Amino acid sequence: STGPTSPLILPSPNVTATGPWSKSILRAKQFTSGLTLPEKINLTTGIDVNGRCVGNSGSIPRLNFAGFCLEDSPLGVRLTDYNSAFPAGINAAMSWDKDLILQRGQAMGAEHRGKGVNVQLGPMMNLGRDAAAGRNWEGFGADPFLAGVASALTIQGIQSQGVIACAKHYIGNEQEHFRSGSGGGENSVSYSSDIDDRTLHEVYAWPFAESIKAGVGSVMCAYNRINGTYACENSKIINGIAKEELDFKGFLLSDWAALESGAASALAGTDMNQPGFIGYGIGPQNEPNPSTANNSFWGEALAQMVANGTVPEWRVDDMVVRIMSAYYEMGQDKDYPAVKYWNFCSFNQLGPTQPGNEHVNVQGNHSILIREIGAKSTVLLKNLNGTLPLNEKKLPRNIAIFGSDAGPNPDGPNGCGDRGCDQGTLAMGWGSGTANFPYLIDPLSAIANWVHENSPDTMIEYVTNDYNYNQVTSLATQADLCMVFANADSGEGYITVDGNAGDRNNLTLWHSGDTLITTASSHCPNTIVVLHTVGPVILEKWIESENVTAVLFAGLPGQESGNSIVDVLSGSVNPSARLPFTIAESAFDYSANVVYSNPTNEIIIHIPYDEALEIDYRHFDANGIVPRFEFGFGLSYTSSATNSSTILSSSLPPTPTSAPVNASLSISGTGPAVTPTGGIGGPTSLYDTAFTISFTIHNTGAFDGDEVAQVYVGFPDGSGEPPKVLRGFEKVWVGKGARCNVQIVLRNKDISIWDVVKQAWVIPSGRFTFFVGASSRDIRMSQSVTVTK
Ligand code: BGC
Repeated sequence: STGPTSPLILPSPNVTATGPWSKSILRAKQFTSGLTLPEKINLTTGIDVNGRCVGNSGSIPRLNFAGFCLEDSPLGVRLTDYNSAFPAGINAAMSWDKDLILQRGQAMGAEHRGKGVNVQLGPMMNLGRDAAAGRNWEGFGADPFLAGVASALTIQGIQSQGVIACAKHYIGNEQEHFRSGSGGGENSVSYSSDIDDRTLHEVYAWPFAESIKAGVGSVMCAYNRINGTYACENSKIINGIAKEELDFKGFLLSDWAALESGAASALAGTDMNQPGFIGYGIGPQNEPNPSTANNSFWGEALAQMVANGTVPEWRVDDMVVRIMSAYYEMGQDKDYPAVKYWNFCSFNQLGPTQPGNEHVNVQGNHSILIREIGAKSTVLLKNLNGTLPLNEKKLPRNIAIFGSDAGPNPDGPNGCGDRGCDQGTLAMGWGSGTANFPYLIDPLSAIANWVHENSPDTMIEYVTNDYNYNQVTSLATQADLCMVFANADSGEGYITVDGNAGDRNNLTLWHSGDTLITTASSHCPNTIVVLHTVGPVILEKWIESENVTAVLFAGLPGQESGNSIVDVLSGSVNPSARLPFTIAESAFDYSANVVYSNPTNEIIIHIPYDEALEIDYRHFDANGIVPRFEFGFGLSYTSSATNSSTILSSSLPPTPTSAPVNASLSISGTGPAVTPTGGIGGPTSLYDTAFTISFTIHNTGAFDGDEVAQVYVGFPDGSGEPPKVLRGFEKVWVGKGARCNVQIVLRNKDISIWDVVKQAWVIPSGRFTFFVGASSRDIRMSQSVTVTK
């Protein structure tokens, strides 16, 4: 197993009391100076998953300091009750709606606070390099800029409630297979994401940098290796990039049992070891191995390392200062609620009924927001002859609904631990990135209720047995309107569902969804397909069929799933969502794939990120590969009425670069050079405005609706960038017939490349082109500008 090596960056930088966190850092330093070494170490080392939360730091009884409660997940409070199950991260991204993404963060933060959680273990911002990777749905899609915006807004929302957010998994945690052994020490099998320095900065670290810029309190190092070194021992990425380059002020905590050694991880800059024990066992639910549960790479071991000089005490001090800085910065010293429940173990379904659980209801009115995001994150992929919206005054006489994905899970919405099965309608994937459903509105009941209210005489029949093709055929033959629901599921690697060990084995629909769709549609000339999938699926078997009149791509909408889809079917929400990844014609069209096997039993399975900057649409564009539906694509009802693809309608600007604001596209600014002045997130000048892109959107259709205006940057020739990269977007509401002026700001960083020799962001000189479009391929305007040094 040969591959690149990761440089050592030592010593670990102590946090400095500069910038907006100064006051909190000074308080944290004072607090830390009053602690004994064991007390300090208590705060750095988890005390097992058998505590109140999935992660618990030790406490300081002398000061009545209870320690930290860390709880999953990126879509709600995990392992409890009277919580909400929010739309998944991927749906937040599909909405391209900054305001809704922020509100979702606020609502999740409020629920975590209400349960007494100090650290919400999210958002998740790995990138979906591999379309089949199991945990992509927890995150925000396959573009670093989109993921960066969504991560930053989610963090702002969570932290506005006083909850410390956690940017995870740092970094290159892009598949589940071989992500780690089970805490087996330095020889634990674990893949290495081999990422060159430029790609690391421009693609994989980008969302983490935006998170740090947004003030995130904690970052979680991943299970995998990067360039040969375990993430939590990787001083280049922790000391070098996070703490030096990006001036991260908060703390770096390990993924669960991700440490494979004590001293190396401490010196590399890891500040907190969770959940404290060395490794998980090999039981069916991955329970902690009882023989190792009390052993830790830190805890007492860290005290010994300080005593024998392996780890300097100032490093332990800095760990605590960073942890406490985040605590003070979020205001957790003032009236922060105590933990309200007892989450027995991450694998234990009895969590909510443990005696310590106070069953505090934290749901508020979040169901309204959840329903809204569910509808506004549903992408309309196809809509022939205005099939949708359905006219509730004139509903068909005979409607047939097919697919297990339309109905409830026979074992109940929480019937499978950590959602580790695919039964009934799919509204979240599986693993630690889940929450219990307080209820789950399934599409079948929601649609039936809506139809019945509006058209009491309409017959609604259904088949939720995915394989009863005879009955499907007979109902489809009689129906005026058919709806087929199908899904594809994935999750975290500790659970295998239908032979999928976290990552999906392929990109096809589950339960023979393609056959169900072709069976129904071959007998029913008006078939609407609704998909609940964790990511891209191959649609080729039926997408061009004339009988498939509409396709809705609904992702993982959370607890209000059925209501959300009714809002779209009825037209009370005009679809405005966009794909945050490419849907290819063939799985082989993507630039990377999950590594599923380890035939030569390597301990370090090297996964070379040879495609470098060209993930997802960047690869399709660079290589002229035609996708089925490109990144950024999505229709609206307005468009179907006008038979054009979206509502964004403008012509190329007739004006030069220096055009005044009332031209349809104008660009201002000169793109000043970046000076490395330091600051959270890197040099502050990186985040200054380089250009402002102004343009007009004209809704030429017959409905009010949203447009998602997307700005892509084409870099100068020779700068080594893909043909275009997303660097700005705005969702804009435009009344029918109305025009709306939009301004999108590009920061210096957005037009920079990472110069590996200078080790700095540099704006290349030459001719830039700024593209404004309704998707990555539906470019409506562009303008070039020359930047000279
Ligand atoms: C996951 C993390 C999660 C942690 C705690 C790990 O298996 O990778 O995302 O936060 O468990 O449940």
